[in-house]
Amino acid sequence: MLNGLLGAVGINAFRAKEAELRQQHAAMMARPDIQHLMTYVDAAAGLALFIKEQNLQRRPFRTIMACAGSVTPEYRKILEEVFQAEVFDKYGSRECCDMACECRRHGGLHVYSPNVFLEIVDERGAPCPPGETGHLLVTLLNNPSFPMIRYKIGDLAEWAEPGRCPCGSGWPRLKSLQGRADDMLTTEDGTLLSSVFVRHFVGVSLNRQIIREWQLEQVEAKWFVFRYIPLKAEGLSANLNEITSSFQLALGKNVTIELQQVNEIPLAPTGKVRWIINGAHRKRRSPDVFVEGEPTRT
Ligand SMILES: [Zn+2]
Repeated sequence: MLNGLLGAVGINAFRAKEAELRQQHAAMMARPDIQHLMTYVDAAAGLALFIKEQNLQRRPFRTIMACAGSVTPEYRKILEEVFQAEVFDKYGSRECCDMACECRRHGGLHVYSPNVFLEIVDERGAPCPPGETGHLLVTLLNNPSFPMIRYKIGDLAEWAEPGRCPCGSGWPRLKSLQGRADDMLTTEDGTLLSSVFVRHFVGVSLNRQIIREWQLEQVEAKWFVFRYIPLKAEGLSANLNEITSSFQLALGKNVTIELQQVNEIPLAPTGKVRWIINGAHRKRRSPDVFVEGEPTRT
């Protein structure tokens, strides 16, 4: 009903293997009148890579609203290239709706200030200055049946430098989202690395012509499992050696990287791709509610 009123067409991107990717592509080709795409960013990037690899007919959009994940520079590049679209990063959640979005200047994500108040705090609850990654706290009073007050939503973010955006809006801007707090990895010396940083680090070493999908899980303090689906055997061992070296550079030279070749990498129950998992962290997960003035309990 709503889709009909909006003129929208839904495409199921929950599980996308080759047959589903071809269906998604066909569904897009069948409606050239639709000019805007709102999507899970992982799903759209996966489809874009598939279209490029298979040399399928390109299907331009005017804009892409990328949600439910981190729009990395690598993702933005492939989406712009394959769909010839301007990409807008949007941040929201099921329980709080949309909270921030890029404008046409792409200088960060404007917070929807009339609706939501966001804070970014460190582990002790102190405000983070621009450029420092911390925990997002959400205050949302426009839902009278379930208001949120300093709700620790579980995402990490950092502020852009303050000041008016070139677009003219004075609403504060998030410089970037840095993934889930639960998915931060702990290095050998105890440093916490965000999943977005680790993905970028791996992405530099990964040869996408050789490895299609991957996932890194921290199982214990110094034990990580790297799962991967290879596309071909040629060059695989050399690329795995390179990736292992990159991980050890980021995580510590004494950590163990166990390599597991798999046929499938399971999605999270929400349908999102799980690139980075901290299994060790999840065992001692902190509560979701942050209480002002108290350190987060663990
Ligand atoms: Zn702006």
